[in-house]
Amino acid sequence: MMATLCPFCDPEPIRVIKRGDDYISLLSNPRLVAGHALVVPKLHVKQLHDVSYSIRFDMFVEAMRLARLIVTRGLGTGYEIRIKYEPNLDDGPVHVSHLHIHVVPRNEGDGLFGATETGRELDAFRALPALERDEMKMALA
Ligand SMILES: [Zn+2]
Repeated sequence: MMATLCPFCDPEPIRVIKRGDDYISLLSNPRLVAGHALVVPKLHVKQLHDVSYSIRFDMFVEAMRLARLIVTRGLGTGYEIRIKYEPNLDDGPVHVSHLHIHVVPRNEGDGLFGATETGRELDAFRALPALERDEMKMALA
């Protein structure tokens, strides 16, 4: 099997926002909305746990810098910061197994991540059996 080129190890220069010592910030492709950015470590790793505290710190400082600029420059009235690790769904548009932080501009009514805006997640939480809530709290404590 041929090795797949990683778009974050060797990003297209046209996408690069900033190069730090340990990270690169990029415009996301595909993007959810204008200004959707990514912060990726220079190391090809899969999970946040795979990089040092120092690199994590630098990545989050960059994510917060991007988030602040999203608001101050009017790309969004707010922002959302996301990190996902597996599963990659077979029918998903992009499969990149290189850690990345999404920084997504948010605006009222943008329709992104709809469940969080309708309150359904809260309703779903209330509907959880008490046993499941207790089991999840114990599993994650
Ligand atoms: Zn990579």
